[in-house]
Amino acid sequence: MRTIEHFIGGQAVAGTSGRHGEVFDPNIGQVQARVALACCEELERAVANAAEAQQAWAQTNPQRRARVMFEFKRLLEAHMDELARLLSSEHGKVIADSRGDIQRGLEVIEFSCGIPHLLKGEYTQGAGPGIDVYSARQPLGVVAGVTPFNFPAMIPMWMFGPAIACGNAFILKPSERDPSVPVRLAELMIEAGLPPGVLNVVHGDKDIVEAILRHPGIKAVSFVGSSDIAQSVYALGAQHGKRVQAMGGAKNHGIVLPDADLDQTVADLIGAAYGSAGERCMALPVVVPVGEEIADALREKLVAAVKGLRIGVSTDAQAHYGPVVTAAHRSKIESYLQMGVDEGAELVVDGRGFSLPGHEGGFFLGPSLFDRVTADMKTYREEIFGPVLQIVRAATFEEALALASRHQYGNGVAIFTRNGDAAREFADRVEVGMVGINVPIPVPVAYHSFGGWKRSGFGDLNQYGQDGVRFFTRTKTVTQRWPKGGAVTDQSFVIPTMR
Ligand code: NAD
Repeated sequence: MRTIEHFIGGQAVAGTSGRHGEVFDPNIGQVQARVALACCEELERAVANAAEAQQAWAQTNPQRRARVMFEFKRLLEAHMDELARLLSSEHGKVIADSRGDIQRGLEVIEFSCGIPHLLKGEYTQGAGPGIDVYSARQPLGVVAGVTPFNFPAMIPMWMFGPAIACGNAFILKPSERDPSVPVRLAELMIEAGLPPGVLNVVHGDKDIVEAILRHPGIKAVSFVGSSDIAQSVYALGAQHGKRVQAMGGAKNHGIVLPDADLDQTVADLIGAAYGSAGERCMALPVVVPVGEEIADALREKLVAAVKGLRIGVSTDAQAHYGPVVTAAHRSKIESYLQMGVDEGAELVVDGRGFSLPGHEGGFFLGPSLFDRVTADMKTYREEIFGPVLQIVRAATFEEALALASRHQYGNGVAIFTRNGDAAREFADRVEVGMVGINVPIPVPVAYHSFGGWKRSGFGDLNQYGQDGVRFFTRTKTVTQRWPKGGAVTDQSFVIPTMR
């Protein structure tokens, strides 16, 4: 059986803990590899190695650092097919979707190619007599990222692209469920010219994440995963004096106003709810039609569309979505389906019991559709993270707005309408971090930034964009005075002011 090792100092490093995790092929439901789970020894090695490499990397001028990013982009494009296949074989998403996963990360690498410009500081000439002030953003040192299973290419690149371009060394702790692509990305970074040690990959679970959060040599931690863990990561990191950004779970609503283009809306909802088997933090698992008339019409069209979905192996080019990531995750989704029935929601389409001929062992689940879900139900309050769409009927615009605003999660939201006035008001008032107007999955482009509100994001700065540069640097401000003739004659015991 293949063993996926750590990647430290530009080479594979065998684990010493004796502990391993199982990596499945969700299409057949069998273990295809095992991944070493690190203990503190590997972390010490990774941090020491990264700290040494970071010194010279930070001294490398930003244009040369950017050239590594340019070359990495070229290599990503050249290896796109290989990476997409590898990604699908461990995650289960269809190949075209894996390419999208890689592409969205690649776009953050493209953004990072602009690092010389992005790092330019501020300068004030003549802030006082003979006084000039300038500020610069300097790297933090060794930083770390902990990533979830559902975007094993995009999310590591969200983090290490800006972090490394800024002059930091980065330790990546990817999800132990699909760890191969993150290692390949690190190998390609070395091939692109990154000095060994500037990007190390250490695999593991809770133990290694906590060791990262406690490690005095790591200055900042970027985390993406589920909310309870994000919150505890945020708290533990802060307790150890670290800068932390921790993105959490989601329950994104799609609000449908009576004037929406219904066919386009249904097409958008189906793709956003069931694509990647619903395992996206920007999926749209809740649809809120406003008014009974549109709710009934929408339901009818949704049922027809859901019944037309094709579930297949990740290599099936016609499949709309593939298996979910593990058998345990499938059981969890199925238990939510039962809970929904027990809570009194109407299960209009039941995806349980689906089996793909020839792949009976795979972790497949048919699509499910609930109607008459209400805000007090646990299945509404919690994230299901599977191919399940819930209809929550609202009587008015205000009611729909309140549903999205009051939910514990505030990652993304979408509104479908032809009414610009209503859309504008919705975008202004809704308490959610990312808003789509007739856009079902409003993941911001790489030069804006990504982040949810409420329990979808802990910390201040978002992922990537200018926020990514800010997160991975600190500001140094220099105030300098060069008195004429070189002599300083004044003395003051009061705080200097710019009178
Ligand atoms: P997860 O929280 O189980 O795991 C995320 C990471 O944390 C993994 O690397 C894992 O090894 C580690 N981890 C697991 N248990 C831990 C613990 N007790 N303490 C510290 N670290 C621990 O998440 P997942 O199942 O891999 O990913 C799905 C979740 O991620 C969903 O909730 C999804 O909404 C969320 N997500 C959020 C965003 C976002 O940007 N907001 C993006 C993608 C995914």
